[in-house]
Amino acid sequence: MEPILDVRDLHTSFLTSNGEVKAVRGVSFQVGKGETIGIVGESGSGKSVTSLSILKLLGSTGCIKSGSICLNGEELTKKSSREMQKIRGEKVSMIFQDPMTSLNPLLTVGDQVGEMLWAHNKKLSKKERDEKVLELFRMVRIPEPEKRLKSFPHEFSGGMRQRVMIAMALACRPELLIADEPTTALDVSIQDQILKLMRQLQQEIGMSIMFITHDLGVVAELCSRVLVMYGGLIMEEASIFDIFENPKHPYTMGLIASIPDLNQDKNTLLKPIPGSPPDMIHPPKGCPFAPRCPYACRICQEEIPPYVQLDEGHRSMCWLLAPDAPAQDNPFKQGKEDA
Ligand code: SF4
Repeated sequence: MEPILDVRDLHTSFLTSNGEVKAVRGVSFQVGKGETIGIVGESGSGKSVTSLSILKLLGSTGCIKSGSICLNGEELTKKSSREMQKIRGEKVSMIFQDPMTSLNPLLTVGDQVGEMLWAHNKKLSKKERDEKVLELFRMVRIPEPEKRLKSFPHEFSGGMRQRVMIAMALACRPELLIADEPTTALDVSIQDQILKLMRQLQQEIGMSIMFITHDLGVVAELCSRVLVMYGGLIMEEASIFDIFENPKHPYTMGLIASIPDLNQDKNTLLKPIPGSPPDMIHPPKGCPFAPRCPYACRICQEEIPPYVQLDEGHRSMCWLLAPDAPAQDNPFKQGKEDA
């Protein structure tokens, strides 16, 4: 599939009073035209910072230290703030996590979506803008759009506000839509409606989607490929089938094992991954998952594992899979040799 986005060896850091937070530490991936990929991981894994780096929305303390972000052949890391303003919304758009706080409470929803259109085309009259906003409201299935144009955000439910945010993100028909946990703040039935809507819109418009979430269930519904992030690195990348049926990285296995099974006995305990994510000011020298990994061995503490290509489109970063890892460092190989 022809890539629309090509990210190579991206390093992004934040400078804080406590030191440099190395949030993304060498991430490479591609997104194909019309493809939906999922990025999953716990808070602090680097998934949101990766997407904010694409839009260069890193605030005054964040910076892309090295690497390349190519959107349709255009290098984004070299763009000025003015050039990025044009790219944001027109070529890449983002839906943020919380629709309750992302809208301005003092402006009508119609004016807020209209402002997005105006920012990219100053020649549009108020009448033309309103017509386009109505078209967008119909596209995101907001009922009675003519009436709702003049409503304020507080008159909308959470699901309807997220529809407004989606309308705003789609206003300029971007080639890539980044959705950062867009359903986290919504209840389950509304979440389902929003996911269905995003699937329909993707088919209608043909844009690519990067869906960021900590919920593997959401990824299973929407994405064809998944990147599993931890400690600012991609731990595993695979098709949605391989992630669920043939996971190879201990962290991916832990995430899948922690999904509650609705058929299990009510006395069965959930299986969390023990421990907590690493301190990204002083990330571990070796594999970032080592302090929590049940298979960690000496080399895991000392060296970052290499990527191992397992099948087409399936790669994982773990010493257990590395053919050249010393046998004494690999509990799986040891088991085989002992047998
Ligand atoms: Fe566990 Fe080592 Fe693999 Fe990291 S490299 S996931 S610590 S076995």
